[in-house]
Amino acid sequence: MTEPSSPDGPAFIADAPASQALFERALRVTPGGVNSPVRAFRAVGGTPRFMVSGRGARVTDADGRSYVDLVCSWGPLLLGHAHAAVVEAVTAAVSRGTSFGTPSEGEVALAEEIVARVAPVEQVRLVSSGTEATMSALRLARGYTGRSKVVKFAGCYHGHVDALLASAGSGVATLGLPDSSGVTAAQAAETIVVPYNDLAAVEEVFAAYPGEIACVITEAAAGNMGVVAPVPDFNAGLAELCRRNGALFISDEVMTGFRVSAAGWFGLDGVRPDLMTFGKVMGGGFPAAAFGGRADVMGLLAPNGPVYQAGTLSGNPVATAAGLATLRACTDDVYAHVDKTAGQISALVGSALTTAGVAHQVQHAGSMFSVFFRAEPVLSYADAVQQETFRFAAFFHAMLTGGVYLPPSAFESWFVSAAHDDDALERIADALPAAAAAAAAAQPPAADR
Ligand SMILES: *Cc1c(COP(=O)(O)O)cnc(C)c1O
Repeated sequence: MTEPSSPDGPAFIADAPASQALFERALRVTPGGVNSPVRAFRAVGGTPRFMVSGRGARVTDADGRSYVDLVCSWGPLLLGHAHAAVVEAVTAAVSRGTSFGTPSEGEVALAEEIVARVAPVEQVRLVSSGTEATMSALRLARGYTGRSKVVKFAGCYHGHVDALLASAGSGVATLGLPDSSGVTAAQAAETIVVPYNDLAAVEEVFAAYPGEIACVITEAAAGNMGVVAPVPDFNAGLAELCRRNGALFISDEVMTGFRVSAAGWFGLDGVRPDLMTFGKVMGGGFPAAAFGGRADVMGLLAPNGPVYQAGTLSGNPVATAAGLATLRACTDDVYAHVDKTAGQISALVGSALTTAGVAHQVQHAGSMFSVFFRAEPVLSYADAVQQETFRFAAFFHAMLTGGVYLPPSAFESWFVSAAHDDDALERIADALPAAAAAAAAAQPPAADR
């Protein structure tokens, strides 16, 4: 999303020579040196750390430095790194063969597990990424309704689906122009972007395009512009507006699903979507994702119906074994632990920043949380971009130096796991005062001064 100019310079690379050498090799053979853009540290500057191992709450980089990990692979690792039950299930699955291209029992068991947990999901299909899940859900909604337009919210990320890339919040995005080069104007024209947490805007859009809107898709709780929970009745209002206007309501739970409760955000607010998408935690650190919902809608998918969708590695036996082992190990105790730990870390962050005199908001959606460097609460993407991102870059690097690995962007959720224990909290508490001081001392980039 929005990237402030990078603070760079020797201070940021001095202690990472092995990562720096790997990054230089990567830059020669991979665009930007990374296989997913935020990993490149562009928003914070400096050398991306190449990780070589992870155990519990910690990751170790190529230079042998260990960090308390508050990224957790961007959400999937609710149990922490290399959890014994997951490693065991994966090892056993691999030894039986890595892929068959036929149905296998693990897929049925994982689908049963999802259907049992999330009431609105009567049938579910497995795919390999969250992007595939939302792309397929969109196609299905269009096939079911015979309509072409989709409504999404500024600041909500649903993977890099062409139709869903419009948005990252500029005025251009709200005009439906493509946010990414390579997305055609025709595709972008079918996407209507409205402000998050603004039901009246959705109502206006339905009035402006009667009978044309196939679906409204939202993050169940937004975590991709930093964490912005839906205001009370927002999701319920969306479901009702969709029902009244003959559109489908798609709740994207790729991030929240099985992370904020055993039944995801649905488990917290109980609002019934027509379709839902999942990924991250349900893959246990492997490429597994899913979309599911009403049986009459899912019934339109091939081979039963005319909406085509397929995948060579869909329902992969190793990925389903990892996902199933993860979900089964996510007990009530795990959810209670991550809720408590997220609360403790946010309190530590809040008090360190307050002590340093830095304006901030720590926002939550269940156990997901993030820090905005601004004084007022953030309800939408327009609010989210009104923060002092230059403070985040300074804060990030001071935390890194203190042995805590944060998401390298001010517009991402922080994640904790069952393995984040008192030792991890202590490391975070120790790193915070210097990071808060660095945030306080940070200066805006020259262009803004
Ligand atoms: C991560 C994410 C996606 C995309 O999933 P990938 O597996 O990265 O393709 C979609 N929606 C939401 C809400 C996400 O957080």
